[in-house]
Amino acid sequence: MPGMLSMAGGLPAPDLFPVAELTDAVDAVLREEAAAALQYGPVAGVPAMREWIAQRSGETGARTDPSRVLVTSGSQQGLDLLARSLLTLGDVVALDDPSYLGAVQIFRTAGAELAAVPSDEDGMDTDALAALLRGGMRCRLVYVVPHFHNPTGGVLSLRRRRHLAELAERYGFLIVEDDPYADLSFDGVRLPSIDQHTDQVVRLLSLSKTLCPGFRVAGLCGPATVVASVTSAKQRADLQTNTFGQHVLARLLARPGFLAAHLDRLQRHYQARARRLARLLMDRVPWLAFPEPTGGLFFWCTITSGVHATELWRACAAAGVAVVPGEPFRVERDSGTNLRLSYATLTADEASTAVDRLAAAHTQLARAAG
Ligand code: PMP
Repeated sequence: MPGMLSMAGGLPAPDLFPVAELTDAVDAVLREEAAAALQYGPVAGVPAMREWIAQRSGETGARTDPSRVLVTSGSQQGLDLLARSLLTLGDVVALDDPSYLGAVQIFRTAGAELAAVPSDEDGMDTDALAALLRGGMRCRLVYVVPHFHNPTGGVLSLRRRRHLAELAERYGFLIVEDDPYADLSFDGVRLPSIDQHTDQVVRLLSLSKTLCPGFRVAGLCGPATVVASVTSAKQRADLQTNTFGQHVLARLLARPGFLAAHLDRLQRHYQARARRLARLLMDRVPWLAFPEPTGGLFFWCTITSGVHATELWRACAAAGVAVVPGEPFRVERDSGTNLRLSYATLTADEASTAVDRLAAAHTQLARAAG
């Protein structure tokens, strides 16, 4: 539909991509290292990129060695390769309910049994997970998105991080820590990653929200045996992540002061946009309740008027605004009360119009219901 406004996707804001710095990096790579940058490269990744990922992993969690890093084509590929190399039919994967749809699909396709664990603003309820484990459930993997969860926006608390690590050691499962939103913390604060409490962790460090998704460059760090088997799955899948993108991003990230200044800019802009949408929603759609996000890209909202989320999603599309109902993110039950809204890509005028359209769609449904 022409003029459709989207609060649906999880796209980062294109006006915040570091285009000028990337232009310099692309030029420098082509001038100085074209032969290597345009050639096939090592399966595990270009050394400079692996080294940067290992260093970043140490700055934000446990120290690791570049030999325990695999560069993947986005974290999405990291998830897929993990499922291919670690899961066999009927293995149990425990995860928050709701969870990131892209992960749910991968685990389902791998033939895993999904164990839904309730979650709240502090992330996965690890006491509920402990109760399932005490009751005899044995899982191969526990999947978490510890900062600004997609879709709920929750942040796994320190206590729960420690508890999850203890459970991993006691029951022998691996934690998959998928953390693409940690750099989008509005106050710049992030909690240390779970690998500080146990080494039974595979971390996925995406650069899609931190820099831009188009290069498809991400890192996977974990125990040596896991990295070895995922690396061999990577070789079978696509030989390597694109060499040029790795050279460009490694050069960009090596620029002194770049990352800190870039993250500061991202955080300020995202916070302002999130606050703007929060104000619009509070003023114009009082039937929508939500915790104000403290980072990440999403508002996870509850419809309090009794209108069903899927019907509202349809009416919104007809009114010219795309939103996402909660249903696709649910592992088990769906109450039809949730909507996920993204605020990142709309201008001030677009956000205002989008919320007006959301309000109009709701009024129409509420009237029809009598
Ligand atoms: N994990 C989560 C929780 C995500 O939200 C996304 C993408 N939106 C991904 C992984 C995939 O990211 P990437 O671009 O690194 O493949």
